[in-house]
Amino acid sequence: MKKIIIIGAGFGGLEAARILSKRRGEVEVTVIDKKETSDFLPTMPDCIGRGIRPQYLSYPIKALAAKFRFSFIRDEVNKIDLQSKTVFTATATLNYDFLIIASGSETNFYGNEDIQKNAYKLDDVADAEKLLDAVKNRGFDNYIIGGGGYTGVEVATNLRLALNKMKRSGRVTIIERAADILGPLPAWMKVYVKDNLKRLSVEVSVNSSVDKMDHQKTMLIWAAGVKTPAFIQNLQTEKNPQGRIRVDEYLRLNESCFVIGDAAYFEYKKNYLRMAVQFAIFHGRAAAKNIIRSIKGTSLKKFEPVDLGYIIPMANNRSCGTVFGLNLKGFLPTMLHFIMCIYRSYGLKNKLGIIKGLLIGGGRWRI
Ligand SMILES: Cc1cc2nc3c(=O)[nH]c(=O)nc-3n(C[C@H](O)[C@H](O)[C@H](O)COP(=O)(O)OP(=O)(O)OC[C@H]3O[C@@H](n4cnc5c(N)ncnc54)[C@H](O)[C@@H]3O)c2cc1C
Repeated sequence: MKKIIIIGAGFGGLEAARILSKRRGEVEVTVIDKKETSDFLPTMPDCIGRGIRPQYLSYPIKALAAKFRFSFIRDEVNKIDLQSKTVFTATATLNYDFLIIASGSETNFYGNEDIQKNAYKLDDVADAEKLLDAVKNRGFDNYIIGGGGYTGVEVATNLRLALNKMKRSGRVTIIERAADILGPLPAWMKVYVKDNLKRLSVEVSVNSSVDKMDHQKTMLIWAAGVKTPAFIQNLQTEKNPQGRIRVDEYLRLNESCFVIGDAAYFEYKKNYLRMAVQFAIFHGRAAAKNIIRSIKGTSLKKFEPVDLGYIIPMANNRSCGTVFGLNLKGFLPTMLHFIMCIYRSYGLKNKLGIIKGLLIGGGRWRI
């Protein structure tokens, strides 16, 4: 019986666990996660404005373990030793035949302790609850979003929706260190997003950064970048600046260790795969099948990514994106984003919770 350990019960880890657990009798699958729940990250910004309740975005890993029949350990992984094939958690030392690192990414504060202590972030549902509580119960004059990427834009539009619903004023500003928001995205998309932000009175300040601020009057939401968890940062292997581990064409770091989702740096046609739910799931599936092939002694299959596209959802339903190669603007991409969210989230209760939030919590808001 081969022992397989999966670090992380997010999109990639759970997909791998689901596939591998079908081989019960041949493999013993253990999933380790530092949280009790698997959290649905893409809908977290919508908790702020649209009224989707955070409780509908998390699902107990224990229940998934019972459904798919894998073992679950709630613990934080501190270290791995690739030579001795050992995983060290806060309370245990575990050996494996195959390891899947699926530990995602977390907010990067770039060493700024003041920001780390005082800013809000969106790494998990607990963060979303804290942020929502502060927006509802504390009056700020200024709302600063550090970082003009997808998440920053989504959060800014949801904040404006929340303030409008509460009939409160407040200056909402995106602060971006680079010369423009949305990094390498196409020009038409940037124009569309900037026009929409102007419509929502969201200011954008580029070539600027946040060093210190008055946290009583200003709410800072930090969405300026991510990094991989500490146990990966400490691993001696090739990584990109975010700490994502470079993997081979089979998603491996070595013959017994696969890395998937946000934790993996997968180069494809001289480009690299962005961090996204679809790639985490496809990676999970591919890594699980390659582990099965490794056990059987058959040749592994190269990972060939299929890019379904991406969407920048904005809370006034003027979203934009590219789906199956088509450039889309307005309500249709908004709808497609939420169809993806409902489809991918676990459990009927959570799916209905998202639908309810969208229908009664501001889903029809349009400026
Ligand atoms: C606010 C927000 C909005 C987003 N919106 C979209 C979107 O609209 N579309 C899209 O495609 N993508 C979106 N993303 C990105 C997407 O969520 C990620 O790419 C995806 O979650 C990556 O999946 P993963 O399986 O690699 O990791 P995750 O889903 O992040 O799961 C990682 C798991 O590992 C666990 N873990 C981490 N460290 C340890 C440790 N040391 N020990 C034990 N367990 C650990 C974590 O608790 C977590 O459960 C968004 C992300 C955020 C934060």
